[in-house]
Amino acid sequence: MTSVDEQPIPIRLVAHHAFCPRRAWLEALGETTDTHQVAVGVAAHHAVDDPGRSRAQAMRSVDVLSAEHGLVGRCDSVQIDDDGRTTVVEYKSTPVRRRPAVTDAMRVQLALQTIALREQGRTVDAAAIWFVDHRQYADVAIGPDELDAALEQLRRLRAVLDAQTAPEPLVDDPRCRTCSHAGVCLPDERALEPVTRRVLVADPDSQVLHLATPGARAALRSGRVRVVKGDDELRTVPIERVLALVVHGNVDVSSGLLRELLWRRCPTVWCSGTGRVIGWASSANSPNGGPRVHQHVASANGHLGLARGFVAAKIGNQATMIRRHGEGDAHATLRRLQRRADDATSTAELYGIEGDAAARYFEAFTTMLSPSVRQWASFAGRTRRPASDPVNAALNLTYGLLLSDAIRAIVACGLDPHAGFLHSSGRNKPALALDLIEEFRAPVADSVVIGTFNNGELKPASFSHVTGSTRLRDSGRAAVITAYERRVTTSFRHPIFGYDVTWRRAMEVQARLILGVLDGTQHRYKGVTVR
Ligand code: SF4
Repeated sequence: MTSVDEQPIPIRLVAHHAFCPRRAWLEALGETTDTHQVAVGVAAHHAVDDPGRSRAQAMRSVDVLSAEHGLVGRCDSVQIDDDGRTTVVEYKSTPVRRRPAVTDAMRVQLALQTIALREQGRTVDAAAIWFVDHRQYADVAIGPDELDAALEQLRRLRAVLDAQTAPEPLVDDPRCRTCSHAGVCLPDERALEPVTRRVLVADPDSQVLHLATPGARAALRSGRVRVVKGDDELRTVPIERVLALVVHGNVDVSSGLLRELLWRRCPTVWCSGTGRVIGWASSANSPNGGPRVHQHVASANGHLGLARGFVAAKIGNQATMIRRHGEGDAHATLRRLQRRADDATSTAELYGIEGDAAARYFEAFTTMLSPSVRQWASFAGRTRRPASDPVNAALNLTYGLLLSDAIRAIVACGLDPHAGFLHSSGRNKPALALDLIEEFRAPVADSVVIGTFNNGELKPASFSHVTGSTRLRDSGRAAVITAYERRVTTSFRHPIFGYDVTWRRAMEVQARLILGVLDGTQHRYKGVTVR
């Protein structure tokens, strides 16, 4: 991480360091979370976040700066009583069922505010916490010991921020249960072992919005995404429910909507009608700049551990698909190749194993289609673009959808979709996103394709055939996108961590495990494999 000597450190960050050094690191790297705890904390400050409502004896949102210690911050309230006594007050939310206790982090915050206010020439006689939910004051003594302890926290925080590797997550610590950053920190997942405690992080209550009706237009209207075609309103969704936007083919998106999505750090991905990813827009405000630099260095130097993880998991999942849905014994060969991938000693060896596995897998692919489908949807192997048959056309689209999801997951944790470890960055493709989708191809994309054919969602009329190439018609594309969304929002039992998780969240967790390898807190990478 860059040295922070030149810029003042937020007092809030020092308080978070007192709570957990890793939490401060994550925040300093720009990780933000949209959790209930954060919403409650913001709500607790509503009464004091408007400096315009200050009175002479109760100033609100008072900005403070300590040039001597390189600190900046904001006091919720500075109150002056009739005797001229000045008290600095912080507003905190604590669930009513829990005791309103003053923590070390609160003490540190008040002490540093006191230091900054005194440096600005104000007298500070006392400090207190106002517990919003309990409507209760708690006086906090700030003497020389508290001031020294707060400055010691500041010194330790500087050391953390100047370090090259992230602080290790806490181990089996109750603080993680209430930490708003647990969903990005993944303290229990780092060990790649079953997570035994109750996981409090929910999947986001939002969705990826696909715009796939040719000629439609999406715009922002009164806080909702409104999709229209001509005079018809096709869909309207609250903007808070949108996790990302995927635009398929000829659909317009207003600049107002794009700006709002970027402001909310929700990426937009544009695909062609056949599922080829054309480009994406992501917010300029991106976390983890330091690890992103490490990513580029590791990508240039090669990272066999990551590459092995992607390939071994991919082949393992291909073996499972064939064993579950196909015929013959290709799955046994694939299992052997999976073990070889796990032990590969070079990337070149991995490429060979991966190519071998792909040939075996796609030879057996047809056996997963029902006999009636095989009669009209012949599949003689994987042909990319243009697709030569219905199965390849559907595979192209689902791989494009998977790539869009991987790009979203990678961008969300601040990594660069282009700097990969298995796919070459020199091929001008989003190499890391292609790396990440390897383990999800069979259980997500291929599973969707097999399902949509076998259950009749895709039929001959879903395709058009022009001069040797096969394309999905609009109805076929809609069927595949619907089935894909159904699949990625379905929960499964995570093979390592043992908890239920959606495939979409699993993709982001895997992206964060890659990030962990790059920031030094993840000692190896293991792909998701289904049994
Ligand atoms: S989840 Fe735990 S280890 Fe991670 S930042 Fe929060 S308190 Fe620290």
